[in-house]
Amino acid sequence: MTRPLESVADAVGNTPLVRLARLAADLAPRVEVWAKLEWFNPGGSVKDRAALAMMQDALGRGELVAGGPRALIDSTSGNTGVAYAWLGAALGVKVALVMPSNVSSARKALARVYGAEVLFSDPMEQSDGAIRLVRKLVAEAPERWYYPDQYSNPWNPRAHELGTAEEIWRQTEGRVTHFVAGLGTTGTAMGTTRGLKKRNAAVRGIAVEPAEALHGLEGLKHLASSLVPAIYDPAELDEVMAVSTDEGWDVAERLAREEGLLAGHSSGAAAAGALRVARRLHEAGGQGVVVTVLADRADRYFEPGAVSV
Ligand code: PMP
Repeated sequence: MTRPLESVADAVGNTPLVRLARLAADLAPRVEVWAKLEWFNPGGSVKDRAALAMMQDALGRGELVAGGPRALIDSTSGNTGVAYAWLGAALGVKVALVMPSNVSSARKALARVYGAEVLFSDPMEQSDGAIRLVRKLVAEAPERWYYPDQYSNPWNPRAHELGTAEEIWRQTEGRVTHFVAGLGTTGTAMGTTRGLKKRNAAVRGIAVEPAEALHGLEGLKHLASSLVPAIYDPAELDEVMAVSTDEGWDVAERLAREEGLLAGHSSGAAAAGALRVARRLHEAGGQGVVVTVLADRADRYFEPGAVSV
């Protein structure tokens, strides 16, 4: 950190870009693979970016007021909830989070420690059940809640279009040729691809989704069996790649052992996709700079007796 900050909210973004030198050693020097370390955000994940942008938008329009009675409410697979919770404290806004009741107790504790209220939805319905419950609560008492709805809020992808993409462009000095990201709300993949294509229309945007409907890549969505987010527009992407839970977990382990990067499983899947894209380029005799996003760190999922969903 080079300058003093008025608020920890000002520390969101400007995350390090690190070369995956060992995992992609056989592809160098023609093809490079790089990763954005999103756990350097204050809340420990990529979702700090979207949450901050959506909250700033709501504060700017008076939908939320610092110190006011109205609370932000949203559903979350975990990281967005942590982001809202700490940002709520930092910005003086009340926060209520709806999550499936089977999320780890560490997740519940993490939200509560920042003073957020935690409400539970049916675990069998997974993240879609949490979305349905938020919609029901907001419909019942619209004056009590502000619902940013990260699945349809343009500020979710815009945070990445204006932030993540600009940083990748700057950090690669405009050399980036391919961008690979996992699909959750799809904000990272849509917004970053959009921002990079604006700077160079030849940049390819590749999204990674779990190969299985019931998967172990927390934070990612198998779109064929989920509610499709309104912000998702596959026409703007060049490819959607399926990565299995096994492959995602294997690459996460290799990131730790071979690169010293303690990345979560969704990051393992994103890196697996990036390595596939890079290998394909290399085999075709091409060159390129492939950039991916490591959304969060594995220790977020470490807990004695934890159930991973
Ligand atoms: N990885 C993890 C660990 C996440 O929590 C999320 C957000 N659900 C993503 C990836 C996907 O990010 P996005 O919502 O921007 O698609």
